[in-house]
Amino acid sequence: LSIGGDEQDQVDKARTLRNETRRPTVCALEEILYQIIPVLDHGFIRVVDYMGDDAAVVQAARVSYGTGTRTVSDDRALIRYLMRHFHTTPFEMAELKLHVRLPIFVARQWIRHRTASVNEYSARYSILDREFYFPTAVNIREQTKDNRQGRGEAVTDRDADAIIGLMREDTERSYEHYLWMLNEEKDPSRPSVARELARISLPLNTYTQWYWKTNLHNLMHFVQLRADPHAQFEIRAYAEEIMKVMMKWVPVTFEAFLEYRANSKQLSATAVAIITEMLKGNGAPSGLSKLSLRERKELFETFGLSLPASSASK
Ligand SMILES: Cc1cc2nc3c(=O)[nH]c(=O)nc-3n(C[C@H](O)[C@H](O)[C@H](O)COP(=O)(O)OP(=O)(O)OC[C@H]3O[C@@H](n4cnc5c(N)ncnc54)[C@H](O)[C@@H]3O)c2cc1C
Repeated sequence: LSIGGDEQDQVDKARTLRNETRRPTVCALEEILYQIIPVLDHGFIRVVDYMGDDAAVVQAARVSYGTGTRTVSDDRALIRYLMRHFHTTPFEMAELKLHVRLPIFVARQWIRHRTASVNEYSARYSILDREFYFPTAVNIREQTKDNRQGRGEAVTDRDADAIIGLMREDTERSYEHYLWMLNEEKDPSRPSVARELARISLPLNTYTQWYWKTNLHNLMHFVQLRADPHAQFEIRAYAEEIMKVMMKWVPVTFEAFLEYRANSKQLSATAVAIITEMLKGNGAPSGLSKLSLRERKELFETFGLSLPASSASK
């Protein structure tokens, strides 16, 4: 990962500063505060601020005056209860602010999460760096045949190299044209095109940056959708790093999140009826035929199984 000497100096300097506060802090998060956490080839996340911790969730739920007198196990049980029963507002009391560097195509997916505050680097005012995302050879895959979104079979190493070569060639050419249009060297034989115009033919793999602030409830929603295997690999890489930050910041909430959200499964009413019959010991799940083939497949996948041929034709 390349960040310039200036940027690294600013991070190092920020990390030497100390502030006194009466507010609760989280040691494990203080340890990584401001630090660059690399993602993809030139991207990163870094925590620039946070408010609250697991105790803030508990305090809000109990509307208490201070840290309270309950035990750690009471607090854990309460957080798990809140998570299980979708009592979500206490989780809105803790907030996280990240600085993120990400390719524009990832930013387009990320920005769809509307319940956050965002401020993006302005390519109308500033010149974009020569920083682009290129997938590694193992991540170059064919279009999946199962559904319309996503990646399927791997391609040969030779094809992967050729594809990455094309991506690099197109990207380099676009960036050279961008620099030519900007005319920072002030060549009098051509105009210096406005930055807001020169940028418009840059490719989607160009890196951008933003500050992104959201509360713990919305953060969990983001992570649930974007760390999921159905999400695109590149945004998943960011969501997975954010999960590691969550684990340090709010370990009790994180544990409950894994249990009741990320690793839990949702079932349709028909699926519940089928499983109820099976649990009652009523033999083969005859109700399967009430589900479409796709739903049947998904039901088996929910339990890590593939649909048996005998159930595929019912
Ligand atoms: C695997 C995957 C594939 C996707 N594919 C596509 C695609 O093909 N095309 C596409 O356009 N998008 C696609 N999306 C984006 C998706 O539809 C959502 O826009 C995105 O995940 C943000 O989710 P959200 O709206 O729940 O989040 P947020 O915007 O953070 O909203 C959180 C919650 O707040 C509430 N909310 C926020 N704003 C409103 C509102 N205006 N009205 C009502 N309720 C609101 C909703 O309950 C919402 O769930 C995809 C997302 C994923 C994860």
